[in-house]
Amino acid sequence: MNRTIFRVCVMSPLRAHKKLSRSYSSICWNCEHNTTSLFCKSCNKVQPPTNKDNYFEALNVPAVYNVDVDQLEHEFKDLQKKLHPDKFTGASEEEQRYSAQQSSLVNNAYQTLKDPQLRATYMLENILHADVENLQLSKEFLMDMMELMEEIETDRSLTEDDFRRRKEQISQHKQHIFKNLSESFKSNNIADARYHVAELNYLSRIDNLINEKLPYCCIDYKTK
Ligand SMILES: [Zn+2]
Repeated sequence: MNRTIFRVCVMSPLRAHKKLSRSYSSICWNCEHNTTSLFCKSCNKVQPPTNKDNYFEALNVPAVYNVDVDQLEHEFKDLQKKLHPDKFTGASEEEQRYSAQQSSLVNNAYQTLKDPQLRATYMLENILHADVENLQLSKEFLMDMMELMEEIETDRSLTEDDFRRRKEQISQHKQHIFKNLSESFKSNNIADARYHVAELNYLSRIDNLINEKLPYCCIDYKTK
């Protein structure tokens, strides 16, 4: 884990962009030339991941919450192409292993960063080292959630449409929280960001509870 880069992020995520270009081991495992890119500039061999914890770095995007999703997708597809197993069929075992490791890292990074909830959790836990578990939510929020939970669990008159409507409400509530979350990260307000992630986690739990009540075919019918 690169502590220097992480400390810069904590102080000022917005100003940390330039520090976050991809960093690889400085010596190529194959030809021992200095290398700072995914493929060695001298022998063109793929390099092993050196910083498995930084998903932003893995995808060559700035470590900010309001990440450019189009750029994220573009970088992901580009790297996926470069790391495709077909390109390494005749390669040595070592090279195949490194390309598979890079490919898996890029894949995990993309799955995490493209999702606004996973991205927020990832940033708090892995970049800012903040606890997202032990947090006291407001009484008002908890009361609303408990009411909703009880209704889902006990109200036998709820129809499939009712459940779908509850899912839609949860989805809208989440969209609203994502906006708040974006503001919190922009203003570097980590306490607020933690709070919003805790709210989102609660809403996800209720959403899952509804999924259990719905026939398999109806899950995510309206949330996609
Ligand atoms: Zn090399």
